[in-house]
Amino acid sequence: MSAPIRPQPGILEIALYQGGQSALAGHAEPLKLSSNENPFGPSPKAVAAMAGALGDSHRYPSTDHGTLRAAIAAVEGLDADRIICGVGSDEIIHFLCQAYAGPGLEVMHTEHGFAMYRISALAAGATPVEVPERERIVDVDAILDRAGPDTALVFIANPANPTATFLGMDQITRLADGLPESCILVLDGAYAEFVDGYDGGAALAGSRANVMMTRTFSKAYGLGGLRVGYGYGPRAIIDVLNRIRGPFNLSGVALAGAEAAIGDRAWVAECLRVNADERARLVGGLRQLGIACDDSHANFVLARFADEGTALGADAYLKGQGIIVRHPKNYGFANALRITVGQVADNDRVLAALAAFRGAV
Ligand SMILES: *Cc1c(COP(=O)(O)O)cnc(C)c1O
Repeated sequence: MSAPIRPQPGILEIALYQGGQSALAGHAEPLKLSSNENPFGPSPKAVAAMAGALGDSHRYPSTDHGTLRAAIAAVEGLDADRIICGVGSDEIIHFLCQAYAGPGLEVMHTEHGFAMYRISALAAGATPVEVPERERIVDVDAILDRAGPDTALVFIANPANPTATFLGMDQITRLADGLPESCILVLDGAYAEFVDGYDGGAALAGSRANVMMTRTFSKAYGLGGLRVGYGYGPRAIIDVLNRIRGPFNLSGVALAGAEAAIGDRAWVAECLRVNADERARLVGGLRQLGIACDDSHANFVLARFADEGTALGADAYLKGQGIIVRHPKNYGFANALRITVGQVADNDRVLAALAAFRGAV
């Protein structure tokens, strides 16, 4: 008699990731504003490049992603040798936990932090540690107070999801300065493009031995379905992560699409311009309706209602109008709805529906 099979410690503590809902009974084409996707979709040049790459699908793709890394480096002013590409930035988060966390070590994230940090920490057998935020903003002092010799990684999304708040570079630098040298600070820049002039933490990741930046093609570039992201940081960390990366983790189609997407500067600039105008209009419109909302630094807004019942009522009302948003209860916001900024007409629909909901209660 041998012992029964059982997964490694931590695995059964993982609650399955909840993605944004995408279908709605009774609505053939709902307005999906639940996953922070680009409402304009990917650049047509990216679509053409992907179509062009399909015929080469019998070929194994590049293992070192050299062409894509060079394209990213040229646009972002980075050192191509310090870039590692992954199946979404989720995979980079996973690599970091697998390589640097483990039993007896802690992975820190903030109160309303992105779900993948906890999932990847548990998958590595490490202990996830949650620290409070202050008024929905990452609290540097709370992190520094809690961090110690067993803290392997600290994950900060900046701008943050689902709050859309932003921490200035002075605060981020203070955090990097205060953490133990043995701890890696990971700056998750999934929404970095939406902050004008913000480098996502690239300069810090390029100059410190224990700071990493992650970025993605899923949000500003409208390629959430393609699954491409990357990490940037010290050579020594990139070298470690490459050892556990599958040699063909990105398909040829994905590599071609991402390279063309980052090359089409006009497309992303226009998407970002509309987003900046529209998120301000959405925030203003919500406040006019008496719905609390922080300024957004990303491509979504967090609308806060008086209580959970009102948030659920608003959610149900929006669904009745064919609009899907996110009720971020699992992120500690039972009284809120996270609404992705859509095209102009989409946001008109959201505001009109919420006004009608307000009028009805
Ligand atoms: C969407 C998102 C990501 C991106 O994930 P991908 O795997 O690159 O699609 C990473 N971090 C945060 C906080 C996000 O909201």
